[in-house]
Amino acid sequence: MVASILIIEDDEGVLTYLKEFLFEHGYNVMTATAGAKGLAIIKKTAPDLVILDLGLPDTSGETLCRQIREKFSDIQIIMLTAKDTPQDIIQGLKLGADDYLTKPFDAEVLLARIQARLRRKTGTNANLQVGDLKLDTQTMQVTRAKKELHLTAQEYKLLEYLMQNMGKVLTRDMILNRLWLSSVDIETRIVDVYVGYLRKKIDRAFPKKLIRSVRGFGYTIKE
Ligand code: CA
Repeated sequence: MVASILIIEDDEGVLTYLKEFLFEHGYNVMTATAGAKGLAIIKKTAPDLVILDLGLPDTSGETLCRQIREKFSDIQIIMLTAKDTPQDIIQGLKLGADDYLTKPFDAEVLLARIQARLRRKTGTNANLQVGDLKLDTQTMQVTRAKKELHLTAQEYKLLEYLMQNMGKVLTRDMILNRLWLSSVDIETRIVDVYVGYLRKKIDRAFPKKLIRSVRGFGYTIKE
């Protein structure tokens, strides 16, 4: 399961460090330095988990937490804050945060908390299937017609995202946001390049093609 995480934090040093740390641990990471931009990214991409700093320049983390909870009940929220009195912690949890970490914190501890939150969220949905193409999110094994396919990390993430949304059209922007760091300036053409790589591996040897282009929009996978 390649999960997407949005970090909302105005301290650029903490933000950059966390972004790289989590990206290296295989997550799709998006970032925002203010609440308004964070909320816009949430509405657009519905990440699996949000790391939310309580002290933001444009809005309080408390307000943002409530706004996220009103519309997205299944997004996991981990709050980061310098405040650490029991009242602050209780307040954060009351507003809908799932967990709470006080600064300064250890990145490995945050990682463990993230893994615990995401395990709870994903439950047992381990296998994805489209026709004779199968993807096991626990072992990360991909097979087509029982033959194992060897994908790179990015190809795997792309395939998993397509299969999680079987039959739905994913735009190039959606794929770009999900697979690459949002702050890096990448052209949407890279999506076409990676879809090309993936097609070579999962479709080329088979008469029945599963990945379809939707002209002007993006891509979908279906039987
Ligand atoms: Ca702050």
